[in-house]
Amino acid sequence: MKKINLDRARPQDADKLQAVEPVICYNPSTLENYDFSIYEGARQTMKKINSELISPRSAGCINVNAGQFFRIKSVDGPQVGDLNLWSRGELSEFFYSGKTRALYGTHMSTKDRLWSSLPTMRPMATITHDTLDWYGFDSFGGSVHDIIGTRCDPYTNNLISGGGQYHYCCHSNLTRALAKHCDLKLNIAEKYVHDVLNVFMCTGFTRDTGQYFMKESPVKPGDYLEFFAEIDLIVGLSACPGGNCASEHSSDQANCYPLEIEVFSVNSNTLIGWEKATINQYDRSHGLSKK
Ligand SMILES: [Zn+2]
Repeated sequence: MKKINLDRARPQDADKLQAVEPVICYNPSTLENYDFSIYEGARQTMKKINSELISPRSAGCINVNAGQFFRIKSVDGPQVGDLNLWSRGELSEFFYSGKTRALYGTHMSTKDRLWSSLPTMRPMATITHDTLDWYGFDSFGGSVHDIIGTRCDPYTNNLISGGGQYHYCCHSNLTRALAKHCDLKLNIAEKYVHDVLNVFMCTGFTRDTGQYFMKESPVKPGDYLEFFAEIDLIVGLSACPGGNCASEHSSDQANCYPLEIEVFSVNSNTLIGWEKATINQYDRSHGLSKK
């Protein structure tokens, strides 16, 4: 964590340097060059065609086609979900939480898009509805649906607990689910599990030390986060062993509840003007002339 070294002499212009106004790194207006009204029209015709119930402390994968919607829904009790997205047919193209965070900020909501890893870097999904968008940021700087955490995992738990062997962290849950869904060996599937969108989780950074914190999620049964698939996807979701993440994770201590993934098709006429996302147009020459 970042601490002030009081033994370090401040330079003469320290006050002036610290008073410089920040600049937003990426202007989000250039990313909003798509017609959101198409999604608003299409969602009026949504018809549920598939669903999967994710048991507590486990994960599941489901296919969602480009042009379909899917929802992550709270059922039975407050529960946080760790979301992974893969391009179907090319698992090495997956959700790039770091760049998505740089583009939009620490927490996601309606109209934000989940971008894929380099070099394809294209929108994988667009968030079209968020029943927790009333929350905003609380007085601690906390908010819901973050892309700052990674996913709870057995390796960090092993280090912090002094040798613990816990097998139902989101990383392991997603690894088992992807291996089963794609008929892969466990060690192969594990390579494709990546940093998540923490659906419903309430998190932030402490103002004084900049440390990652979590607090009780405001989610209630019936709440959902809704997405539109911009490409053919495998959607993976883990019902985190932390439950509502009010106290701890990486153990069987918290009360946990299921989550549901719902998939919806829409009337294709409503998608006129929308096209499946194409891969990034950078030429990939990286400064060397192409022959
Ligand atoms: Zn977790």
